[in-house]
Amino acid sequence: MPNNKNKIEIITLGCSKNVVDSERLARQLIANNFEISDTSENSDSIIINTCGFIDAAKEESINTILEAVNLKKQGKIKKVVVAGCLSERFKSELQKEIPDVDVFFGTEDYEGIVKEFGGNLKKELLGERELTTPKHYAYLKISEGCDNPCSFCAIPLMRGLHKSKPMEELLYEVKSLAAKGVKELIIIGQDTTDYGKDIYGKRNVAELLNKISQVKGIEWIRLLYAYPSHFPDELIDEIANNPKICKYIDIPLQHISDSVLKSMRRGITKKSTVNLLQKLKSRIPDLALRTTFIIGYPNETEKDFEELKEFVQEIQFDKVGVFDYSVEENTPSFILGNPVSDELKEERKTELMEIQKEISFNKNKSLVGKKIKVIIDDIEGEYFVGRTERDAPEVDGEVLIKSDEKMLKLGDIYYVEIIDCNDYDTYGKLV
Ligand code: SF4
Repeated sequence: MPNNKNKIEIITLGCSKNVVDSERLARQLIANNFEISDTSENSDSIIINTCGFIDAAKEESINTILEAVNLKKQGKIKKVVVAGCLSERFKSELQKEIPDVDVFFGTEDYEGIVKEFGGNLKKELLGERELTTPKHYAYLKISEGCDNPCSFCAIPLMRGLHKSKPMEELLYEVKSLAAKGVKELIIIGQDTTDYGKDIYGKRNVAELLNKISQVKGIEWIRLLYAYPSHFPDELIDEIANNPKICKYIDIPLQHISDSVLKSMRRGITKKSTVNLLQKLKSRIPDLALRTTFIIGYPNETEKDFEELKEFVQEIQFDKVGVFDYSVEENTPSFILGNPVSDELKEERKTELMEIQKEISFNKNKSLVGKKIKVIIDDIEGEYFVGRTERDAPEVDGEVLIKSDEKMLKLGDIYYVEIIDCNDYDTYGKLV
């Protein structure tokens, strides 16, 4: 067996917040003379950063753990370490069910994991990361945990209550990312609009974004995970007036019927939601809106679903994600059971995505003939693959540019004329 001593594979599951945690952990392990490898074939150990959000994610995490344990049983690797949300939430159960795992850690326990490998935590490097995204964009996690009482959500059980990261620490992190060539920063947290209320006594994400926009090298700033019921007004102005902030907001709404929103404990009504969206669209020209909905919540009736379809037709979101309701232990809605069948959830999800597909196609068609900025992420076959300010990485559409035109530099931003489109992507040529 090749000498893979000191080679560790980190498998990251779940959301972009887990990506940031794994990048921080990788930086710590490298500082302790470990090498991060991208396959188990040439690794001595595997660390699995798990997700415990909904059923599908839990299943994927457990399958990944079992695969790693199998490699250990075959003598192909020596150590399996499990960390992250699923482990934070179900540690004792997992220890009983999968005893071949060497050790289980919760979330953000960098010190524990580094010590497990005989190293020690390098406090001076805590703001630093080993990027796993393409070098020109990175996620910036501005807070951890969540104070919102959404009835279906297990995240506060795994990530705790809302904690903002001090601005100076974040700006240090931004400067070190910009020095590495990062141009696009994607702002994440469980609820990014709550930033600052705990440590500055007010929600001041607008101030943070303004300061980030002054860091040399950062060209695009994108806000994800905004919460509808307390959207700061200054944030609307900052997004509208700051040329470095993408005219793009990801604001999960989860539903629109008042009876479902009430049972979900979202703290907002249909009327206030519509008012907020109209305000955002009127004060931020060309705004691209992304949202997500949960289908099949226990008290969702056919009438509620009709209302949701009409709402999606009316608002014309640019991007929509739809999730099936997942029954989560220890969440307030757990007692409501799961009365909406999986078949009906699937049916409703398909129907809603069909509506959105048409909206997405028409929005793409309206871009044809326009000259817009595109950042180049990758090259695939005969195309360069890029994104506009209206597209977040990994979840939204792409712009495909024929690669025989001119050699483009990954990570650079070019003006592109949109010449064609399909339901979710567009085709462009260099201007
Ligand atoms: S805002 Fe609601 S859904 Fe989102 S993490 Fe917080 S509790 Fe969960």
